Amino acid sequence: MTFTFVTLFANLIEGYFQDSILKRAIDKNLIHINYLNPREFSGSKHSKVDDTAVGGGAGMVMYPQPLYDALKNLKLSNENIHIVFLTPVAKPFRQNDAKRLAKKSHIAFVSGRYEGIDERVVEEFADEVFSIGDYILTGGELASLVMCDAISRNIEGVLGNSDSLSVESFETPLLEAPSFSKPQNYEQRSVPSEYLKGNHSRIRSLKLALSECKTKFFRPEQLLKHRTRKSYEK
Ligand code: SAM
Repeated sequence: MTFTFVTLFANLIEGYFQDSILKRAIDKNLIHINYLNPREFSGSKHSKVDDTAVGGGAGMVMYPQPLYDALKNLKLSNENIHIVFLTPVAKPFRQNDAKRLAKKSHIAFVSGRYEGIDERVVEEFADEVFSIGDYILTGGELASLVMCDAISRNIEGVLGNSDSLSVESFETPLLEAPSFSKPQNYEQRSVPSEYLKGNHSRIRSLKLALSECKTKFFRPEQLLKHRTRKSYEK
């Protein structure tokens, strides 16, 4: 899988791939990372990429030409590219999207800066548009890294143990049960005794109960979804 980051600030992104799981994925040729800077396509004298907003309003907007030409060029040389724009004005990015997008061969993430991107570029090039949450970041770079990371771990071979994918939160509406490691007692807190007895069916039921408690506390709407799904299965 190839990821192309279309960004004015590649240096904000590069460091993330210099260690840990995604670095190993690059070393194993499972993922490839490219960068494309719209500034290099700017036809203006000073390689300008932003301009004032038409119709008024605070701040600058990424004006169409540099990004338009950058994306046209990218599409011409990559037939099957899937172009994703990052913006708060979009559907939320979810685990199901990460799994679905992991099957693509080439994804480009387009990061906005300033007050965002001229809408005509989005209309022309977006295959999909995603928000990573209900808050405003200074730019799309972090958002595209979040997506790239979540997608990459669903690509075969990227995780050492692919079993971990199937038991994680959001595989079902329930959040994952709490995890524990050794030692059994630490700072006067103990691992739940049932976890230690080796009865796997009882451990499973306890984990399910704990999972439901966590979900009820943090994400009650997800618990409702879980219960509705269960009642349909009956
Ligand atoms: N004026 C825009 C608005 O109110 O919707 C916010 C622009 S934001 C300061 C600049 C860029 O950061 C956006 O173009 C987008 O690429 C990125 N961005 C900010 N928040 C985001 C979010 N929650 N999800 C995805 N991208 C985001």
